[in-house]
Amino acid sequence: MRSPDDLVTLFRAHGLKATPQRHAVFAALHNDGTHPTAETVWERVREQMPLVSLRTVYQALGDLIALGELGAVSVNNGAVRFDPNVSPHAHFVCRACERIFDVVASDPELISTHPEMAGVVVTSEGFAVDETEIIFRGTCASCRPL
Ligand SMILES: [Zn+2]
Ligand SMILES: [Zn+2]
Repeated sequence: MRSPDDLVTLFRAHGLKATPQRHAVFAALHNDGTHPTAETVWERVREQMPLVSLRTVYQALGDLIALGELGAVSVNNGAVRFDPNVSPHAHFVCRACERIFDVVASDPELISTHPEMAGVVVTSEGFAVDETEIIFRGTCASCRPL
């Protein structure tokens, strides 16, 4: 995801609204590695702008996704989590604290075998795959007993 100021420029170039409320949404997500829900983003924005509606936040998130500046992850059948890291990566979900971490390939093989890296893959059943999701589950470093 680009910087909040660059996103304002990008939104204007696409004829999209770039209000101060939207700038606050961009800032709430920028460099965020926690994969927040829309409600969490809304809480952060309301600290500065108490009158912003959840609907406004959802609309800004939807426009960011449409522009390819934001990803969405769904784990454990919970609320959709938003991800400003749009480069290919896998996720690790801790069973103890339920936090979601980005997995940056310490084993590059793990990521390079990802079909999305090689374009569309057609399975033997004839299904055209254009996206895959890798989710590792286990115990994160801070929850793991020493
Ligand atoms: Zn944990
Ligand atoms: Zn991520």
